[in-house]
Amino acid sequence: MTDISIPLPKCQHLKILTGQKALVTGGSSGIGKAVAIALGQAGADVVVNYHSDEDEAHEVADTITAAGSKALVVGADVSREEDVQRMFHQMLDSFGTIDILVANAGMQQDAPLDEMTLKQWQKVIDVNLTGQFLCAREAVREFKRRGVVDEISCAAGKIICMSSVHQTIPWAGHVNYAASKGGIMQMMRSIAQEVAPFRIRVNSLCPGAIRTPINADAWNTKEAYDSLMKLIPYNRIGEPEDIGRAAAWLASDQADYITGASLVIDGGMCLYPGFAHGG
Ligand code: NAD
Repeated sequence: MTDISIPLPKCQHLKILTGQKALVTGGSSGIGKAVAIALGQAGADVVVNYHSDEDEAHEVADTITAAGSKALVVGADVSREEDVQRMFHQMLDSFGTIDILVANAGMQQDAPLDEMTLKQWQKVIDVNLTGQFLCAREAVREFKRRGVVDEISCAAGKIICMSSVHQTIPWAGHVNYAASKGGIMQMMRSIAQEVAPFRIRVNSLCPGAIRTPINADAWNTKEAYDSLMKLIPYNRIGEPEDIGRAAAWLASDQADYITGASLVIDGGMCLYPGFAHGG
């Protein structure tokens, strides 16, 4: 049965990120928007990166400002090295440093393998994987330069990569997307191993089905929603705020000993729901 009105948990916005400076890529919509707002409500000043929807990015910034934190809107294409470097320069000029990177920007260009063009393959890899590499590299440069500031955080910096359950679940018809997320998993773990001695934490969030524009076809009709529920034992779609709360916690010192981890947030989608009644 369809029930899309299940109440979400009330979120107490503890100021667990006070004094920290965060950058959220793709922060004008969906998961990135919810993450940017959650970090702002937790006390961080936030750079809201957008690619094409500047007005929405300013609305996100207004919400963060209303919560008492600073916000800066910066347009940049994360797949372009010069854009990423300009974005970081703007952030360091305005906020002085960076403590938290949420590499969230992502996209899909779906096609059966035998119809997928090299352009479709390359575009998704460029944005989803290379974009995270470029942003992580700039963030680590600043984390290493600055080091730990005790009164701000136990760590010299935190990176959260937005991955997906499709870093492990194969996805027919989405080979470029699944490959990009599988790549993020090993990129994240390798960076985490490399920079742990500098007290830099690197982790991934792996959402299941979250109600955002990227997957509207999977939830915006009753038939699609009912079909989706067959994959989700918890029997509701995820909301962007489910990811926002997790990002704020994972970026905070409450999660200080966690690095190289993938936190799956999927209402049980990875629990092989087809086996719920004996397989
Ligand atoms: P979305 O389409 O609302 O968000 C994607 C954001 O990335 C948009 O703001 C878009 O403008 C931005 N973006 C795209 N290309 C960009 C570029 N070149 N440079 C900068 N920004 C760019 O969809 P979403 O669901 O919020 O997706 C956010 C992330 O979450 C993506 O990485 C996606 O793969 C991941 N994710 C989403 C789901 C889901 O069910 N919605 C599940 C797993 C993972």
